[in-house]
Amino acid sequence: MLANLTERRWQGYLAQVSAEYAQLAVSERSWIAAELKQIAALQQELDDLFRRGDGPAVCSRCRGACCDCGKNHFTLVNLLAFLSAKELPPIADFSLPCPFLGPKGCRLAVSRRPFNCVTFICEGILDPLGDAGYDAFHELEGQLRRCYLNFDQRYAGSSLRGLLIRGERLAGRPFLKPPAVRSD
Ligand code: SF4
Ligand code: SF4
Repeated sequence: MLANLTERRWQGYLAQVSAEYAQLAVSERSWIAAELKQIAALQQELDDLFRRGDGPAVCSRCRGACCDCGKNHFTLVNLLAFLSAKELPPIADFSLPCPFLGPKGCRLAVSRRPFNCVTFICEGILDPLGDAGYDAFHELEGQLRRCYLNFDQRYAGSSLRGLLIRGERLAGRPFLKPPAVRSD
């Protein structure tokens, strides 16, 4: 029942953001594309770091515990990554702990994965990389956070708290208009 309600809200937000994106000026879409390119590159670098620390093996031993609380992670930025490529995200299954969890792990490409997911790298993965690994992680995490915040400053619907939470707060107001002063 709750999953059905969330699914309806999700579909509504997808339709609304898609319609708003279609109305954007070419210059605005170019700004989005350039920012997304930078985000994709940083997320790939974070994933490279994760793999250097043997992340896939460490996570498989832990059975992907952090994906058990991913319901709200997907953000406006991640949706724009699909829309700007003329695509839609995979079908979201809200009966799962995270709607994008599949039998073999995350169904989202690294470049389109939520900030909260690509920056969640456990000590067990970073420790073997030593101080250099931690330094690289903090540098990349900071750069990536600033990129996502650029979207927060530009669009009312952007927030690291995720599209579902932000959509509820907006209560029908546009996602892709400048934000009013807000508390999150
Ligand atoms: S990042 Fe940490 S909590 Fe998440 S699956 Fe890997 S080891 Fe487990
Ligand atoms: S989006 Fe992917 S990485 Fe993030 S919680 Fe969901 S399945 Fe896990």
